[in-house]
Amino acid sequence: MTDRVDIAIVGAGPAGSAAALALRAHAPGLTVRLLDAGDAPRFRPGEVLPAAGAEMLRQLGVAAAVAPAAVPAPGLALLWGSDRVAERNALFAAQGGDWHLDRNRFDQLLAHAAAERGAKLDQKARVTTAQPLPGGGWRLSIAHRPPLDAGFTIWATGRRRGFLGAVGAKPQVSDRLAAHLAFYREETPGDHRFLLEATPEGWWYAAAPPRGGRTIGFLTDADLLRQSFRDSPDWAARLGKTTLIAAGLSQGATLLGTHTCSASSSVISPLTGPDWIAAGDAACTFEPLSSQGIAKALRSGCFAAYAALDCLDGKADTARARYETLVQGEFSHYRATLAQHYRAETRWPTAVFWHRRLAHSAFPADMRTAQPHLTLEGAR
Ligand SMILES: Cc1cc2nc3c(=O)[nH]c(=O)nc-3n(C[C@H](O)[C@H](O)[C@H](O)COP(=O)(O)OP(=O)(O)OC[C@H]3O[C@@H](n4cnc5c(N)ncnc54)[C@H](O)[C@@H]3O)c2cc1C
Repeated sequence: MTDRVDIAIVGAGPAGSAAALALRAHAPGLTVRLLDAGDAPRFRPGEVLPAAGAEMLRQLGVAAAVAPAAVPAPGLALLWGSDRVAERNALFAAQGGDWHLDRNRFDQLLAHAAAERGAKLDQKARVTTAQPLPGGGWRLSIAHRPPLDAGFTIWATGRRRGFLGAVGAKPQVSDRLAAHLAFYREETPGDHRFLLEATPEGWWYAAAPPRGGRTIGFLTDADLLRQSFRDSPDWAARLGKTTLIAAGLSQGATLLGTHTCSASSSVISPLTGPDWIAAGDAACTFEPLSSQGIAKALRSGCFAAYAALDCLDGKADTARARYETLVQGEFSHYRATLAQHYRAETRWPTAVFWHRRLAHSAFPADMRTAQPHLTLEGAR
């Protein structure tokens, strides 16, 4: 038995849920299925939502629904480009402050808000393959389930881009930044500001999710990460060499677990095709230094939904061209801003991590040529 819907959204992260919310708001007559593999890790990265993201949630009408997963961050402290700590108090941020998120809860609340607006949510549905149907649309194969036929498919699978082969798209990866994340329980609260610190080997951040505890991330290129753990496997010793990050962690904090993942910048090409479109990280990834991933996912979910509606309305050529221009433009702007941030740190010009970034002041389209042997085991 094959079920059929007008629009299937694969992936119920911020991008997929935002797409579902936008579709329900603007085309309530269409059937929308929001499918998720339901195998999110216990700790998901991405715990800081900037003010622009909070505004997107208000525009989608779900700010109250996701509020239980967010607490205001009291501010930001950074050691970047100088030995002096720069601080920003949330009270004085013109757009409002940033938010610390409980990411799993946030994603759940957002997906359920989409379901309450009429999208059919299925959180045990891992899409394994997709085949074009002769009359248009896609047949999605789902693990341990009958397939689903969809007139249009929005791919919002995050960095897991298993759909690329089926639709004939390829990723363009700009660098090989990787993140080593450590999750702590704290008996007494540490410094709850968002902390950012550059070191000769890369950079660090610390966030304080509302569920308590602390997430600490160390970011460097994948080859350097492997090499640094080979040379000095003692994580606590490495953390102890940081200034802000180590001081922000409360005494006696317990390490609960670690996770290593890709944090690279990338964009796929093409971003759309006959009866499909990619949204959020499935379309393009920003590195966490930007703190823009969730806001960008919400925004692109909405734009992907509008483009899908135009495609179903017979305006596919214009809609697809507009969406490609929008996402590529956003990605170029992000890369230019990122390059500026890296150029602001000049204390270790000969350290490999910084040399790679400073040597490419405008970041060429593909920095891989500057980085040999760049695969990270287990990175997606
Ligand atoms: C180390 C690190 C730190 C970060 N920190 C921040 C931060 O502080 N602030 C910020 O804004 N951003 C941050 N980001 C980026 C942010 O996490 C992402 O940009 C954001 O989650 C993208 O949302 P998305 O909906 O596109 O994808 P995701 O959130 O990845 O959601 C994708 C969903 O698709 C589902 N899925 C995947 N494959 C399938 C399949 N085959 N079938 C069905 N379902 C599937 C998954 O289960 C998942 O629920 C960080 C990223 C990293 C790597």
